[in-house]
Amino acid sequence: MPVKLAKTAGFCMGVRRAMNAVLDASHKAEKRIYTLGPLVHNNQAMEMLESKDVRVVSAGEEVDEGRLYIRAHGIAPEKRASLDRPGVEVVDMTCPHVRRAQMIVGRHAKNGYHSIIVGDAGHAEVEGLLGHAGGRGWVVASAEEVAELPAELEPVCVVAQTTQNARRFQEIVPLLEERYPGAEVHNTVCRATDDRQEEVRTLAREVDAVVVVGGRHSANTVRLAEIAREEDVPTYHIETAAELDAAELRGHETVGITAGASTPHWVFGEVVDSVEESLRNRAPWARFLRGLLGFGVHSYLYIGTGSAATTYAALRLLDIEPRLDYLLLTLMYVVSMHIVNCFTDRAAAKLNDPQRMRLLGSWPRAFLVTAILLGGANLVLASMYGRYAFLFMLFSLVAGIGYNLQWIPTWLSRRIGAKAVREIPGSKDFFLALAWATVAVILPCLIEREVPAFPEVCVFLFLFLMVFIRSLVFSISDVEGDRIVGKETFPLVMGLRATQRLVVISLAILFVIACLDIVTPWSAVGGILLLPVCAYVALYLYLAQRRRLSRGVFFEVVVDAQFILTGLLAYSIPHG
Ligand code: SF4
Repeated sequence: MPVKLAKTAGFCMGVRRAMNAVLDASHKAEKRIYTLGPLVHNNQAMEMLESKDVRVVSAGEEVDEGRLYIRAHGIAPEKRASLDRPGVEVVDMTCPHVRRAQMIVGRHAKNGYHSIIVGDAGHAEVEGLLGHAGGRGWVVASAEEVAELPAELEPVCVVAQTTQNARRFQEIVPLLEERYPGAEVHNTVCRATDDRQEEVRTLAREVDAVVVVGGRHSANTVRLAEIAREEDVPTYHIETAAELDAAELRGHETVGITAGASTPHWVFGEVVDSVEESLRNRAPWARFLRGLLGFGVHSYLYIGTGSAATTYAALRLLDIEPRLDYLLLTLMYVVSMHIVNCFTDRAAAKLNDPQRMRLLGSWPRAFLVTAILLGGANLVLASMYGRYAFLFMLFSLVAGIGYNLQWIPTWLSRRIGAKAVREIPGSKDFFLALAWATVAVILPCLIEREVPAFPEVCVFLFLFLMVFIRSLVFSISDVEGDRIVGKETFPLVMGLRATQRLVVISLAILFVIACLDIVTPWSAVGGILLLPVCAYVALYLYLAQRRRLSRGVFFEVVVDAQFILTGLLAYSIPHG
């Protein structure tokens, strides 16, 4: 693989915790929201918070009313005390790892210890730690600075800035122990930092160049770039994809990409996409093909083709003649609804899928007219199968368009807490799968037969689960962007772990349906079609879980290939 991704890239626990708390509060809009200093050292994340009306105040600035968040770096006790005033609710989001370091310093200060902090003087976290040292705190970052410390300091306690270079800490500690033999050493470099640093070190040895994504004023990101450079590989520290030099990247065979603990996932994803595009397409013809593939994926043609393929497979399973009309009905429905929903939900699309939004945003009229034409063609085609088929398709289209619109009457929206269907928790993942499976399976069945029976239920459930799992995988990957726009997807409502469990349960049910078709064949093709499909779903889930796949064109190509594969397998089975 020309591109290697660091598994630990992106928000760490402490940053995510603070960011989530502020974003959730900004959506409720009960009070004015402030943060004491920038919540994260990342310009793109800060611009996003500003757009949500979250204001940054400096330590000297006074806040008269509202909710004031203390960021993950923490602050000194005196500063904390000065924030209390009537009308101001202070929410302390100090990271638990920083809190641990503060408690160690504070406890030792009470017992008369001097605290030596291995870290960067002036950094917000270090300033906070100094505040806990009760006037007996010292900061060192190098052997020279250790030599400059006063000789008479004992008793001494040593801690690290949590984002400190773990190796540098290990190098400085023996010098401090030599100078102050009774020094009590507490390694407070946090695990997230440690893991990221170890991973970038290993990554740098395996690739020809490293791209580090994150704020130039983010201490932990700067350190990741430092570590990569120590391994003697060309290292590019960039804030956004726009800073990448594609021509320079093409000079490397393999590139590793990592990101600081304060880098949002959507910024990282864009960089990954750009690097992959540069590396995979050195020759002009390869760039052309890649552009074509990108267009197919971003214009929803690819997933539309996949939906037609699944309809073909469903009809083969049910021993219904797979007429082109049925395939077209699903294809046109899936493409038109995806285009419409991308435009009606453009805030989320801009963050989660910027490349697609750029394409659709460049020709908005052309895409909207295409969506309308496809919807109209759907109605005409369905009407050829009678009144019920027409009404069925009309209902499906209206439900798809109405998903993002605020049409729920006030009396009902007050009870269910949602003005649009999309505001109902978990609705996106559920309704997408339901709509797809309904048009692909139920509509042809209603046209061909009277009442759906056991095989129809199995095929419907199988297809529903395939689309549902896909949707959950995308929701897990888009969790940061969805939180920003206040979308209530499964990962945001139930949490990531519970959603991952839901994926596993859904996959298990897929396997049961497939195995059932082998043990007691219920389909027309006798159980040989579904097991390989299940295996492919399990494979892409494994790759996504191991972060071998990251959101972008390649990700969609691999995930949605499950639908094409299903159709191809069905096609390859001889008619009985
Ligand atoms: Fe907490 Fe570590 Fe993240 Fe700092 S880098 S906020 S200490 S988890």
